[in-house]
Amino acid sequence: MKTMKALKIKNLKKTYKNGFQALKGIDLEIKEGDFFALLGPNGAGKSTIIGVICSLINKSSGQISILGHDLNQAPHEAKQHLGVVPQEFNFNVFEPVEEILVNQAGYYGVNRAEAFKRAEIHLKQLDLWDKRRDMAQSLSGGMKRRLMIARALMHNPKILILDEPTAGVDIEIRRSMWAFLQKINEQGTTIILTTHYLEEAEQLCKQIAIINQGVIIKNCAMEELLSELDSECLELHLKTAIENTPSLGHYPVRLKNQTTLEVEIKKGESLNTLFELLTLNNINIESIRNKSNRLEQLFLNLVTPSKKIQESD
Ligand code: ADP
Repeated sequence: MKTMKALKIKNLKKTYKNGFQALKGIDLEIKEGDFFALLGPNGAGKSTIIGVICSLINKSSGQISILGHDLNQAPHEAKQHLGVVPQEFNFNVFEPVEEILVNQAGYYGVNRAEAFKRAEIHLKQLDLWDKRRDMAQSLSGGMKRRLMIARALMHNPKILILDEPTAGVDIEIRRSMWAFLQKINEQGTTIILTTHYLEEAEQLCKQIAIINQGVIIKNCAMEELLSELDSECLELHLKTAIENTPSLGHYPVRLKNQTTLEVEIKKGESLNTLFELLTLNNINIESIRNKSNRLEQLFLNLVTPSKKIQESD
């Protein structure tokens, strides 16, 4: 059976009015049912892509289709399948929470009785039911973010796109939002999210594209990406200060300051030899931490391929 692509982006370019080219020819294909991360640093072009998909930003050129409907030629059909959660809160803060949801469903032609039913489901799932009669203004940041998600789901879209869904949200709410997104993905909703929060992509997503300066620099399964990672960086905090970078055999090492050493170790490598060498050098370790998570390390390698930890002079 031929599976339909949830989202297809072909050679998408965007040059802003000031002449800045934010997207330099983006190609992306996202399968139905996928949980897809678009990962990149601030300014990479993630929000611009989302803005173009939800027609808030005019593209300069390229094509976008949503479940086979071209966004230019069949905008109504295309948008019917799409729920979008932008970064900025854009609901009427003087409206009660439940009204916001019911009115949104109305824009998509859902009748009020049905809309109230759906609102109840989403508000309960997103832990906002107790707040349904409150003005949106009175909600906390995390609650407002969840309200945005509930609103995006009111017309039962097959694809949910979220721009930095957990930005500024505390860790507990973040985890419960992750669990919620995972649940609706398992129930069949295709989820596409942007993030510069690397752990988020690693925890949640099956597929990943990495964008930098308006260009996709990597597009593969998350597993594949993780298997490519062959090293990580340990930060060693020293009990006593040292002046010079020690020689630690084959381990690339850098003296960050007099009491902090950074050492790169290969995947699966035993740490015993490292500690033996540290002992030989009379270096006492007070504590150790993993400086970067593995994904972060790979991201650095992709963006600056030649940048490796070097022995400092
Ligand atoms: P991200 O979401 O990955 O942080 P954005 O898509 O917001 O990145 O921005 C991509 C680039 O486009 C940035 O360099 C940003 O400064 C620039 N940009 C965004 N909006 C505009 C605009 N309206 N006019 C000019 N440049 C813009």
